Amino acid sequence: MLFEKLEELAGQRNAIDGQIVEIAAEIDRDGLCGMTGARSVAALIAWKTGSSSKNGHTIAAVAQRLAEFPRCAAALREGRLSLDQVGVIAEHAGAGSDDHYAELAANASVSQLRTAIKLEPKPKPKPEPEPVPVPDADDEPEPEPESRGSITATTDDEFTCWTIKLPPIEAAAFEAALQSHHDGLIAQWKRDHGDSPAADRPPMPTRVDAFNALVEAGWDAEATRRPHSHRTTVVVHVDVKDRIAALHVGPLLSDADRRYLGCDATAEVWFERDGAVIGAGRTTRLINRRLRRALEHRHRTCAMPGCEATRGLHAHHIVHWEDGGPTDLDNLVLLCPYHHRLHHRGIITITGPATSLTVIDSTGRQLRSGSLARPPNQPPPAVPPYRGPSGERADWWWYTPFQPPPQATN
Ligand SMILES: [Zn+2]
Ligand SMILES: [Zn+2]
Repeated sequence: MLFEKLEELAGQRNAIDGQIVEIAAEIDRDGLCGMTGARSVAALIAWKTGSSSKNGHTIAAVAQRLAEFPRCAAALREGRLSLDQVGVIAEHAGAGSDDHYAELAANASVSQLRTAIKLEPKPKPKPEPEPVPVPDADDEPEPEPESRGSITATTDDEFTCWTIKLPPIEAAAFEAALQSHHDGLIAQWKRDHGDSPAADRPPMPTRVDAFNALVEAGWDAEATRRPHSHRTTVVVHVDVKDRIAALHVGPLLSDADRRYLGCDATAEVWFERDGAVIGAGRTTRLINRRLRRALEHRHRTCAMPGCEATRGLHAHHIVHWEDGGPTDLDNLVLLCPYHHRLHHRGIITITGPATSLTVIDSTGRQLRSGSLARPPNQPPPAVPPYRGPSGERADWWWYTPFQPPPQATN
């Protein structure tokens, strides 16, 4: 009885996922995503359906290749395949493989589909992709020569993956520093929690904690050297009377860029009147550590609804400093760099007070966090129950992987 009910619900869920995929494809086609301030279709779907970023990515992947996989998509809509099954295909399968996988998926589990796709012949190796430059590294115009190592980073919604290549001596120094911070953290942990019962102890510090400790230690040293700011990278001159800003020995900035840079300690801003730097009052614009901690304590993610970013957040002045907005808790809100820029470019509008923010998109609609889910007022899709893949052991010996058709050569 319970299994029958599961089959029925699974079929309906597949069909509903099929409809969500079609909506995602429409959002993608019409470019509706940028309007809402979301970073991507995947992020928008995850936000609006209250689901994980993984789920959002799966839906976006299927949506993007909808035209390429008509049979798989139809099977999803008709409840015969699950979103995860079609998702694996859309994420990894070769071009032109719709028929092949539509047949296979009828009997193959998600992990069997994964294996089958891995057996596809590899496409000819493409030339190495250009390394993605580290974001915000605009103070390092020249790429480091290879002999001195390199740092590249790629970012998805959840994590940033850094690839750090160091020559032997620097590598040894880095390893030793990491090890010493790790040892230190563990010693500290033992001192603090050695006697507590196991259930009450926080987890043992990892090498990632050691890395963060290393960064913080470096940052502290840097901050002591320049006590007025902790991220002084770009120097901007702002003329408070005429509201004109120029980069130090550089081009004039747009209004949006001036306000963006003036907002937080992302830049060292010199406020000037009639060409003369004005007094010490300007230092209050910078967010000190205590205020920053308080901000993080109040709301630890980016204030944009649906954005989960927690790293590298900027403290944005709701009423801008140059318009007389004070640097205090009520006038400050944390934003990720992406949404901070979006705000200063006028694509999203953020109005206070900080405790009950109003965020409005470019069409004037108010954005709210949380999913759009509500009780349905339509019956579930009328599709047959989903019995799932057969679950039989796959015999990979006899399996013929998908072969891309030979390329026409004319
Ligand atoms: Zn700002
Ligand atoms: Zn954000």
